[in-house]
Amino acid sequence: MDGSGLPEIRSTCAYCGVGCGVLLRPDGVGGLTVRGDPDHPANHGRLCSKGLALGETVGLEHRLLVPRAFGQDTSWDNALQLVADRFSAAIAEHGPYSVAFYVSGQLLTEDYYVANKLMKGFMGSANIDTNSRLCMASTVAGHKRAFGTDTVPGTYEDLDQADLVVLVGSNLAWCHPVLYQRVIAARQARGTKIVVIDPRRTASCDQADLHLALQPGSDVALFNRLLARIHQTGHVSADFLDRSVGFNEAVELAQLDDPDETGLSPGEIEAFCDLWIGTERVVTIFSQGVNQSSSGTDKVNAILNCHLATGRIGRPGMGPFSVTGQPNAMGGREVGGLANMLACHLDIENKAHRAAVQEFWKAPNMPQKQGLKAVDLFRAVESGQIKALWVIHTNPAATMPDADRVKAAIEGCSFTVVSDLTARTDTARVADILLPAAGWGEKSGTVTNSDRTMSRQRTVLAPPGQARADWDILAEVGRRMGWTEAFSYEAPAQIFREYAKMTSLAVSFGKDLDITSFSDIDDEDYEALSPTRWPTKSRQSDGRFFGDGQFFHPDGKARFVPVGHRPPKATTSEQYPFLLNTGRNRDQWHTMTRSGLSPRLSAHLAEPYVDVNPNDVDRLGLSAADLVELNSSVGSGIFRLRITESVAPGQVFVPIHWTGETAPSACVDVLVPSVTDPISGQPESKSTPVSVRRM
Ligand code: SF4
Repeated sequence: MDGSGLPEIRSTCAYCGVGCGVLLRPDGVGGLTVRGDPDHPANHGRLCSKGLALGETVGLEHRLLVPRAFGQDTSWDNALQLVADRFSAAIAEHGPYSVAFYVSGQLLTEDYYVANKLMKGFMGSANIDTNSRLCMASTVAGHKRAFGTDTVPGTYEDLDQADLVVLVGSNLAWCHPVLYQRVIAARQARGTKIVVIDPRRTASCDQADLHLALQPGSDVALFNRLLARIHQTGHVSADFLDRSVGFNEAVELAQLDDPDETGLSPGEIEAFCDLWIGTERVVTIFSQGVNQSSSGTDKVNAILNCHLATGRIGRPGMGPFSVTGQPNAMGGREVGGLANMLACHLDIENKAHRAAVQEFWKAPNMPQKQGLKAVDLFRAVESGQIKALWVIHTNPAATMPDADRVKAAIEGCSFTVVSDLTARTDTARVADILLPAAGWGEKSGTVTNSDRTMSRQRTVLAPPGQARADWDILAEVGRRMGWTEAFSYEAPAQIFREYAKMTSLAVSFGKDLDITSFSDIDDEDYEALSPTRWPTKSRQSDGRFFGDGQFFHPDGKARFVPVGHRPPKATTSEQYPFLLNTGRNRDQWHTMTRSGLSPRLSAHLAEPYVDVNPNDVDRLGLSAADLVELNSSVGSGIFRLRITESVAPGQVFVPIHWTGETAPSACVDVLVPSVTDPISGQPESKSTPVSVRRM
């Protein structure tokens, strides 16, 4: 307590997958103060600039406060009945695959659970995909290929205990700042070395021992060279070879790759291999530069192959480590938030898994096949296959690749619903029904961070106007569609208990996801739930997986996946001679619907820009602060020129934060074509051929 008389409330940050704990104190008049939670295992009291400014983002500016239908304010009763009727009619007339949900890693696990149950168990379609498809779908696919399940093997403590941290396609310093602070603290305490593998020279390079500015998309060639050298130098773990399948095939293919594809010098490659092989405690962190690629899944497996070969996995201070972008990308994966998954890490195309889920839910309409992944989903909207679409807490009209085409598709859809905090998004502008949803600080539930730690988000402010929680909105639509008992939820604790109980199915199929110990948690204990890493009945007391060499394929063995370098699908040409890379700023989050409300955060870099190397600036006759136009095969945009050596000659960089709503003509996803990884369906957002010219 302090002078305000109101107690601090424990919650979790709204933004990235680090999942920092926060202590929130309402000021009694709609505002909040925020500080880091010293007792949260993810951050031990630290926060980055975005987390610290959360209190500046809870005002009611631009909030959607009442439901709207076809441009008019309406009642919840009317809006929800319209949603239920139109989805029911589409299913009755055109079948279950004529409807779709596109949801978000901003959803809490309880919201995600109800959305999945409604679509996959009752509407009878698997057409529910999420913006996490743009974030970490390649990692999910890579984990499943190698381990037999989507498991992050390590924990954040590994970063404190590593002697070498390799950042691949990750600007950790800006995108997961509190994890970066942990790495820097380890560097100060134990001399941890840092290698950055990234075409750009980012802030993460400032304290790096080695920066490898490899050719965009050539990560497989680099890690294949590492695997070949591990084999050549005899640093292979005999124990892990016994506990795996496919090593020889993976090495044979790796040896065929030409390291020159990386664009790195032999000296740089060998220095990296020597450091990696010579350091037992190595953590390889990877993020969007790996995932957002037409060979993203192969890149993930190239990294996993090296850790499996050396047995550097699931042991203190070592392992491959995927860091996720969103607060609940992991929770969404756990409850089946991707169109190719069932809840609890079960597989939609496995008959026994489907039957078990159907029995658990008493579900009348289980889908028999995968649903449409994000890019295909919006193509189906465009073609008219999707008759009813529900978009929840995300803005695909600005954030999907080929964004203008996606926006036109949504505009042409027969019936579109948007649940969000604001009506001022590109997608909400073209929707038929707008449902005011509760946001961070107003809703209650759980999220899972990048090292499998579940934390509570708690309600500290009343939802404004008529805003309601997402689980509540979804459950009421379920009831109005006739499934009264299955969606009779009254509180998130009830949903959490059901989900926890459901993880017994994962256990019965030999999977890892086990929170069954919470199956009977009472409301009071749920309210008080402290951060807990799953599995709650751990196979290993330190919470790591695979250190014992036991994997989740039916034979208990890991799989080496033989992979070969494939360059990005689109290549530069005379017409489009530059490669466009995309990413984040330090102080903004996604499309800035929340972080843009903070004056402190918005003071840093106020307008959309493009980074261009000085050599190219001279060659193109550009001057500082010019407005320049970028053109690609699918779209164009206008950006302020920044001259910087952080990008290599021939490459340019544009941040993802601006949309058609906030900066018409400067939405970078308008330029990115919808090329995807054939396995994960994740779009390639890091290497788009473009032209650059002065306006
Ligand atoms: Fe929030 Fe991520 Fe910053 Fe932590 S590192 S305060 S979770 S944005």
